[in-house]
Amino acid sequence: MDAIIPNFGRASTPVDKSADPVPKIALARGDGIGPEITDAVLSILDAAGVALDITELPMGEALYRAGHLSGIADDTWSALRKQRVLLKAPLTTPQGGGYKSLNVTLRKRMGLFANVRPCVSYAPVLDGPAHMDTVIVRENEEDTYAGIEHRQTDEVMQCLKLITRPGCERISRYAFAYARANGRRKITCLTKDNIMKMTDGLFHQVFLETAKDYPEIEIEHLIVDIGTARLATKPERFDVILAPNLYGDILSDVAAEVAGSIGAAPSANIGKSLAMFEAVHGSAPDIAGQDLANPSGFLLSAVMMLVHMGLNRAAERVHNAWLRTIEDGVHTADIACAGTQHKVGTVAFARGVANRLGESPKILRAISYPERPPLDLDAITRPSEVPPTRQKTLVGVDVFMHWNEPERDPEALAQQLRQAAEGLLDLQVITNRGVKVWPQGIPETFRTDHWRCRFVARKDHPVITNMDVILLMGRLEQRHLDFVKTEQLYKFDGEPGYSLAQGQ
Ligand code: NAD
Repeated sequence: MDAIIPNFGRASTPVDKSADPVPKIALARGDGIGPEITDAVLSILDAAGVALDITELPMGEALYRAGHLSGIADDTWSALRKQRVLLKAPLTTPQGGGYKSLNVTLRKRMGLFANVRPCVSYAPVLDGPAHMDTVIVRENEEDTYAGIEHRQTDEVMQCLKLITRPGCERISRYAFAYARANGRRKITCLTKDNIMKMTDGLFHQVFLETAKDYPEIEIEHLIVDIGTARLATKPERFDVILAPNLYGDILSDVAAEVAGSIGAAPSANIGKSLAMFEAVHGSAPDIAGQDLANPSGFLLSAVMMLVHMGLNRAAERVHNAWLRTIEDGVHTADIACAGTQHKVGTVAFARGVANRLGESPKILRAISYPERPPLDLDAITRPSEVPPTRQKTLVGVDVFMHWNEPERDPEALAQQLRQAAEGLLDLQVITNRGVKVWPQGIPETFRTDHWRCRFVARKDHPVITNMDVILLMGRLEQRHLDFVKTEQLYKFDGEPGYSLAQGQ
């Protein structure tokens, strides 16, 4: 059977080879299984005659232990900036102790806005669905991953979800440009904009706007829950998937698992000044140092890197040798299946691939990486000229209160708030966890110690300023009413820039 195995496409703009005959890359050997799979991958690249000027950069567990909370030393950033390409083995983030994930730090600090994960099934050679060839393009910098969290009351924690127009534009344009450059037919955008109408709504809206420039590409939008379910059961219906950061993170693991070989899943993180290539899996400390790790995910990430650098022939040689190796039944333990002929360790698997360089698969379709038009990251990341708001009008304020009186009776809170706001602003609604509890709440609604109290301009005094908000705060403070946060309510050219309370 001739299964369709795609190439992974060009994820980015190739570097200028003429200026740099031996391409430079930075390498992080990683933690856990990192050093083993790095040796395996380098041995294959070496056997394939790929000449690279490699600078090893220290990052990960040793750096964390040495007191660098982000797992990287300050002077490594400038080295990274110079190399422009990073091949990174998985790193271990120590638990607790204020340590931050270096992956998230690298993506955000270096502006690696696009995370590209091809999820491919290799049936009938490996276990997996008959046809799956999906590329997940995940927004990499925004959403709840901004990491802005607060404890606001005894009972309530908050995480801010930030979605920006420039962020949506660059990832949407990237997905369409990637699809066009790599001959993809369709993009499915997954959001939850039936609930998050403003944040996910913006992501969806920008997707539709961007699509107008790519009439040849079919588009669809699915709510992320049904989209994920379909991905799990009918993976063949998806071509390119575009998603905001959190959904994309979850989806790409679901997709890699559905494809049947998480150990073989590669990824690219693309930014204007750096491109980082890494396997989808982590540092697998449970099997580290035992010659058990599958180097395939990291090897195929290196293949994506070669294409990024314009080394297409080398990418084809390595990719096809790898396909032939798995086709010949040479498998590490994690991908062992009915077709396994030789269950091997990391070193023998790498040797198996190196020995097959120059060979092509016979059952799976051989890969070719034709010259593709480069993706213009300058154009992709240039914010569009959105006409500025002509009139931004303050119409009220949401005051979030920590209030824990006995019975948690909203009527009692409303009474105190109305007294405080008398002659200044009108109390319009109180919600608890977003659900209206005043006026006309119902007793069944569960109430925590965290109350969102919406004040709006009075009808006889419709023009308000921040000074009215400040005066209100002062009055609440005088009455020892504990406000923990405010959000101003604006209309932008007459359009409300806030959601209505549920039940309002
Ligand atoms: P993991 O992916 O490391 O391991 C999950 C399971 O898959 C384990 O049973 C492991 O043995 C197996 N596995 C993973 N890769 C394999 C491979 N190449 N070959 C064979 N088996 C493999 O996930 P985890 O256990 O949740 O995380 C371990 C550490 O990795 C944590 O410190 C985490 O922070 C880190 N991590 C790093 C990255 C990264 O650097 N990109 C990504 C995810 C997790």
